[in-house]
Amino acid sequence: MRYTYNAETCKYEPVIVSPKDAAQRLVRFIGISFVLGVAALLYFNSRYPPIDETFQTQINQSLKAEWEVLYKQLDRTSVQLSALEHNDDNNYRVILDLQPLDQSQREAGVGGRAKASEGIYYPLVRQAYEQAEKLKNRLEIEAQSLQQLQDELTRKEKIWASRPAIQPVSNKDLKQLHTLFGLRMHPLLGYVRPHNGLDFTAPQGAPIYATGDGSVAIAQYSETLGNMVFIDHGSGLQTRYGHMTKFIVYAGEKVKRGQVIGYVGNTGTSVGPHLHYEVLHNGTYLNPINFFQRDLNNKEYEKLIEIGSQSAISLD
Ligand SMILES: [Zn+2]
Repeated sequence: MRYTYNAETCKYEPVIVSPKDAAQRLVRFIGISFVLGVAALLYFNSRYPPIDETFQTQINQSLKAEWEVLYKQLDRTSVQLSALEHNDDNNYRVILDLQPLDQSQREAGVGGRAKASEGIYYPLVRQAYEQAEKLKNRLEIEAQSLQQLQDELTRKEKIWASRPAIQPVSNKDLKQLHTLFGLRMHPLLGYVRPHNGLDFTAPQGAPIYATGDGSVAIAQYSETLGNMVFIDHGSGLQTRYGHMTKFIVYAGEKVKRGQVIGYVGNTGTSVGPHLHYEVLHNGTYLNPINFFQRDLNNKEYEKLIEIGSQSAISLD
């Protein structure tokens, strides 16, 4: 109950509120409260997003950060793969005489599989899938390329090993070479004729080496070359060794470069212990001096030719 001071009666008298006034005040109060409440709610909503939305935003942000890490890793892998491809094309393939792969070949990938990214809705995820797919294709191509390099290397190693590339007798001071390839006076016939090989002087019984890997085609005695051995090296190359005191290999035997096949002698038409050595390609005589790459540097090569040029008469 509220009181008010009445100056006329000099008394405090209770304030009587009519039910109509009370009802009006109540309506006004409820109205103002409602308006203030709505205003406060709108203000709060505009400043603070709902909890669910906040949570989603946080998830999105961390997902985005993880995607960025994923992209960086994909990029790094791509750079590493590019370095490997570059080495493959510009070093390994050049050394092995193979053509570099072109870029479209490298990116085309293997086979015609469906794209892994098909059916993926989110562009960010699809993009990563496509990038990963491209990398996978490039990797498969590179793996195939490395296998091809490996096969080629094995093939070339076989060819290199079978190529005649050393001197057939020990010749450290280079003085063993007696006569060069070319026109030479025959020691017994007494006239100039082609000498189809090199003559190496060496003590009777000095070892004779196979100059490259191959298989023995002939190991027998002949009137002219005496005890002789022919070795086939593949690719049309053959080496022949004559005037041996004896041979220690048989026809059909596989031999390795540097393996002893016989010993220096004076058999057949020969005027002293020496080795007559020939290199043939598809039946044509080649100058064996061009086949000593494994033995000689340029200086030694020149010295060998100089020493070999001094004698105009072959030992045959
Ligand atoms: Zn000779």
